Amino acid sequence: MENLPNCPKCNSEYTYEDGSLVVCPECGYEWNPNTQEEENVIKDVNGNVLNDGDSVTVVKDLKVKGASSSIKIGTKVKNIRLVPDAADGHDIECKIDGFGAMKLKSSVVKKA
Ligand SMILES: [Zn+2]
Repeated sequence: MENLPNCPKCNSEYTYEDGSLVVCPECGYEWNPNTQEEENVIKDVNGNVLNDGDSVTVVKDLKVKGASSSIKIGTKVKNIRLVPDAADGHDIECKIDGFGAMKLKSSVVKKA
């Protein structure tokens, strides 16, 4: 078995090669592993590439709708999950202590 990348959509490890494409049998997604990385790459405020599971630091105070306090600059966020196709531009899902599950924009974080 070659070491194929996990599915970028559902993170399945049961991907297989089909010509130049890699196919995910679980969600049906097909992609070219040689170009995918550049198409779906999400970068932090400094242009560093972010990956699922990374830890990041918030680089500015963020008002949270419905919360009594804001997320402060310098807040550490562990184990982010990337959402490359986020329609509203919030391309990071994460949990923040005291706030719970949140969506952030990659433009307000830097890789920790
Ligand atoms: Zn998949």
